Amino acid sequence: MILKGQGSGPLPPLLQQYVELRDAYPDYLLLFQVGDFYEAFGEDAERLSRALGITLTHKTSKDFTTPMAGIPIRSADSHLERLLKMGFRVGLAEQTEPVEAAEGLVRREVTQLLTPGTLTRENLLRPDANYLAAIATGEGYGVVFLEVSTGEFRGVVLYSKSALYDELFRNRPAEVLLAPELYANEAFREEFQRRFPLMVSSGSFDPQGARSALVQQFGMLPSGLDHPALERAAGAVLAYARTTQDGALPQVRGFARYDPSAYMQLSETTLRTLEVYDPSPVGSYGQLAPGEERTLMGVLGLTRTAPGRRLLKAWLRHPLLDEGPIQARLDAVEALVRDSVLREAVRRLLYRIHDLERLSGRLAAGRSNARDLAALARSLGLLPELKGQLLACEPLRVLGERLPLLGEVAERIGTALVEEPPLKITEGGLIKDGFDPTLDGHRERAEAGRTWIAGLEAAERSRTGIPSLKVGYNQVIGYYLEVTRPYYAQVPQDWRIIATLKDRQRYTRQDLREKEREILLAEEAGRKREYEVFQELREEVGRQAEEVREAALVLAELDVYAALAEVAARRGYTRPRFSSNRLLIRAGRHPVVEQHLEGGFIANDLEMSPEARLLILTGPNMSGKSTYLRQTALIALLSQIGSFVPAEEAVLPLFDRIYTRIGAADDIAGGRSTFMVEMEELAQILQGATAKSLVLLDEIGRGTSTYDGLSLAWAASEYLHDSVKALTLFATHYFELTALPETLPAARNYHVAAREEAGGLVFYHQVLPGPASKSYGLEVARLAGLPPEVLGRAGQLLAGLVARRDDLGQALVEELLALDLTRLTPLEALLKLQQLRAKLRPVALWEAAD
Ligand code: ADP
Repeated sequence: MILKGQGSGPLPPLLQQYVELRDAYPDYLLLFQVGDFYEAFGEDAERLSRALGITLTHKTSKDFTTPMAGIPIRSADSHLERLLKMGFRVGLAEQTEPVEAAEGLVRREVTQLLTPGTLTRENLLRPDANYLAAIATGEGYGVVFLEVSTGEFRGVVLYSKSALYDELFRNRPAEVLLAPELYANEAFREEFQRRFPLMVSSGSFDPQGARSALVQQFGMLPSGLDHPALERAAGAVLAYARTTQDGALPQVRGFARYDPSAYMQLSETTLRTLEVYDPSPVGSYGQLAPGEERTLMGVLGLTRTAPGRRLLKAWLRHPLLDEGPIQARLDAVEALVRDSVLREAVRRLLYRIHDLERLSGRLAAGRSNARDLAALARSLGLLPELKGQLLACEPLRVLGERLPLLGEVAERIGTALVEEPPLKITEGGLIKDGFDPTLDGHRERAEAGRTWIAGLEAAERSRTGIPSLKVGYNQVIGYYLEVTRPYYAQVPQDWRIIATLKDRQRYTRQDLREKEREILLAEEAGRKREYEVFQELREEVGRQAEEVREAALVLAELDVYAALAEVAARRGYTRPRFSSNRLLIRAGRHPVVEQHLEGGFIANDLEMSPEARLLILTGPNMSGKSTYLRQTALIALLSQIGSFVPAEEAVLPLFDRIYTRIGAADDIAGGRSTFMVEMEELAQILQGATAKSLVLLDEIGRGTSTYDGLSLAWAASEYLHDSVKALTLFATHYFELTALPETLPAARNYHVAAREEAGGLVFYHQVLPGPASKSYGLEVARLAGLPPEVLGRAGQLLAGLVARRDDLGQALVEELLALDLTRLTPLEALLKLQQLRAKLRPVALWEAAD
């Protein structure tokens, strides 16, 4: 128990209290309420002042001086938010008794612990899901996610580190608890922190403790947890969250184990390159403005409620694999696309509905305030109209049937609470007149007292004949009778003087004092009663928390359908159809890029099938190759979440995975070279892809020497074509690869049209059959404004490189000479010949292209 400071004496009582609380929560930065401020002392004051850039002062008492820094409680939220972002866990020690009631030192207790993953304070929460995650090992990785504000609690077992990273990336927790075996593993932790710059905490993962945390929560071990790592992670998450929530998490009702193979698998890389949630730092869309409008979420995010937004994000990370449920979603979207009146009406109503999911979380936890209940009642009041609309529309009927109305709850709150209750629930003004007879009684007594006092002025004026006599009130002396100087002589005997001002005096009377006391008592009793009534109401409504949550889920789903329908209608999307193995996209567009080109986007077709499953796409840089690849992936992704797609017609197979290897950004943070990243990604694709996958490759082998790169690209294409048989789009600047269709029966050449004209290269962004005719590298460089000297020199070098390729001819000659012809059968000889020719092919073609 030490506090930085100067002085020999014992700590004054206040600081003693501070140090005790501080030491009870060593992992937290303790903020200590002193009146209207949260203060920190000693070293923590220095940390706080450094972190927030606030003034450091000193607290000086008789024998001790210590550094002190503080923030006003009124504006605490923004400071707290910054502290959390900087990686502090914050504990709030608040005064838990009124200062007047305290005998000596005011009682203070730690009332809230704030960590990024366990927030429930409304002002600190974004509309997005805020997950606390835990990871433990043992027969794979057990990963568990908890959303404290809504009570969502689920987990999964994964068998590789890359699957683990993908899952974390998809769910983006705000804070992660690592089991000791991972926390203590420096290499792991370092890599982990680099990849996920979020708060990493340790937790209590021992199996015994985990089990008892679970039993304490659910009364028994919930099903789905029969796996050692999962059970430890689940227990650790609960225990940690519970300590931050005053020991209880009543909003967490059950655990759901999910199976990642039940959904389309999207890797971290794919989500990043497709810019589903975040714009890519490499800026794949050239000059487009940064920010969310550059992402798929930015295009689709027309949801009107926070639960809707969270659900849309969840759907995007978990596209479906089975046609049935996808068609059901598409039916709902289509109904809303067709009926614009219904869509408008639904969206208008949704706009007025509060975040019922989080409201239900606070209800279950008994933490709602009066404004929450008022918001709940207002929202519930809109449900009958919504339900009616859903029931009248066949594809939305099921949703309508699932929607609970909770009319009684709304009515109960409506009769009990005033329209706009205050934030504080202890200071009255919450409950309507006529709701509770006891409360009414208190109010009537107070009112009667006030009426009596109001009548006093007139009564005393006529009794004393003092025309300027007034009854007044102030905080310090309460009610008084006031008389100006000329009438002092007329003041009756039974008045007692309590204040003298320059030209007037204030008096009181015994019965006035008594009335005043009566009023105060009645008001106090009224406030107390209001609080009781409110608590009863809250408890009563809290019993319906589960149904409120169900309503929230139904509305979230509706919100997503309405948003997808709105996008589809605004941007002319079409309903996708599904086929077992064919892909046909007519006039497909990139949903994000098209929004920024305002009509200037060139739509493109694509046709693939088992007979044309490998598509080699050539064309100069900047012609639109990677845009074409991405738009294909995005159309597939959209189809499988049940959305309409940006195309005139789209028929697609149901993909089990979408793989992308696009762009060559160095993983600077990760410390891996471009080429290493590229090869790791390629390895994952070649190992993981199946005949039902969609594979998009852009510029493989860029990060290494031309020959290495070309050979790898060539071999990878062959492997994808022959063994994996995935539908593959391969955009490349290696013109040699356009020879692939000659040996691979299901490969096809396409190119993006561009033409040289007087002023230079003109891009048409149009995808056409056949290989591109020429490498435009130098041409693009000229367009970009490279100095003529550099261009000239590059031309010379190119010629030199071409000459060097002739060395390959030499190698082939040597191989020929080394053959033992006497040992070859005619068939083997023929095969050898074919092989040699295949090796020569790239060179021949390159030559032709030049
Ligand atoms: P590449 O991969 O061939 O280098 P990109 O796909 O990155 O080319 O496209 C380069 C730029 O061309 C993009 O920033 C975009 O503005 C534009 N672009 C791409 N495709 C189209 C298209 N279909 N219609 C109009 N503009 C396009």
